[in-house]
Amino acid sequence: MTATAPALEFSTTLTSNPVPVERRSQVLANPGFGTNFTDHMVTATWTPDGWHDAELRPYAPLALDPATAVLHYAQAIFEGLKAYRRDDGSIWVFRPRANGERMLRSAARMALPELPVESFVEAIELLVRADADWVPSGGETSLYLRPFMFASEVFLGVRPAKQVTFCVIASPAGAYFASGVQPVDIWLSSDYTRAAPGGTGAVKCAGNYAASLVAQQEAIEHGCDQVCFLDAVERKWVEELGGMNLYFVHANGSIVTPELTGSILEGITRDSIITLAADRGYKVDERRISIDEWRDGVASGDITEVFACGTAAVVTPIGRLAWEGGEVSMGAEPGPVTQEIRAALLDVQYGRADDAHGWMHRI
Ligand code: PMP
Repeated sequence: MTATAPALEFSTTLTSNPVPVERRSQVLANPGFGTNFTDHMVTATWTPDGWHDAELRPYAPLALDPATAVLHYAQAIFEGLKAYRRDDGSIWVFRPRANGERMLRSAARMALPELPVESFVEAIELLVRADADWVPSGGETSLYLRPFMFASEVFLGVRPAKQVTFCVIASPAGAYFASGVQPVDIWLSSDYTRAAPGGTGAVKCAGNYAASLVAQQEAIEHGCDQVCFLDAVERKWVEELGGMNLYFVHANGSIVTPELTGSILEGITRDSIITLAADRGYKVDERRISIDEWRDGVASGDITEVFACGTAAVVTPIGRLAWEGGEVSMGAEPGPVTQEIRAALLDVQYGRADDAHGWMHRI
């Protein structure tokens, strides 16, 4: 998708009241996820005459009128990507253009305005540069970047908003797994689906996540960590988890991921793994996988490993799939292919391996 809107012109207002160094050091020593934010943010406003007031400015609450459209009709999209600090101190972002392009697709589906990909990337550069001291170092830590866009018009009519806000915030993130990679258990949702044909499953809109929460709660009530959704029509085809895509490793050495059907989010990690696995000589197939193929394949030994992938947890082995009345186990230890793919991706992200595909963007 090519952007036709003119690029945004950003101004900069730095904070005169940064978080004290001591407090920042405490946060960076134990970042957790999504609870601490850096000193700055980027905001920009769109009205039918285009984007304006694009600014890097001090992090602060947004004041919203109770009639702000997003609070009523959820016309909102977001992205998630990370900045990584290398051993030499330099900071790099993984595939930011890919996130910018996905945000364009999300915006088109949700009747939100087009944000040029170059401006998306520039907003990230400005924020990460201003808050470079907030990028943690060591282990699998990173600075999580959250660009988002929402209907900020004060209006209760149901139509695309005529005022929209774009914002980027940043939050230091610790290693997803504190004590080594742990397989997660997955609950197969039979009551709920995530996305229907013609719906919004292929884009990153806020409502998809609101709609997945009860299924996620059900997963936790059944002792699982995450929920797996099937297609909404036949309730037969494996789609994805609430926030990650899926991969299946076969005994014959091939790797399979559910094909993009229009109701699966096009994960950037998923896409990167297709390339990285092929680089390593694996045969990678994108095709439909039925829930019976998963269950029977594990039982017969045809499927040897299953893993989930996404920006937050990189590559996560799946230990167990449970459903109402049964379960199948893939094993308590991460399998060798899962570990190899995980290491290959992290090595590119942290600059320990050659960036053969030009995925890393230096800040
Ligand atoms: N599926 C869903 C529903 C997600 O929310 C995410 C996280 N963005 C993913 C898959 C993985 O996408 P990515 O690899 O781009 O993080």
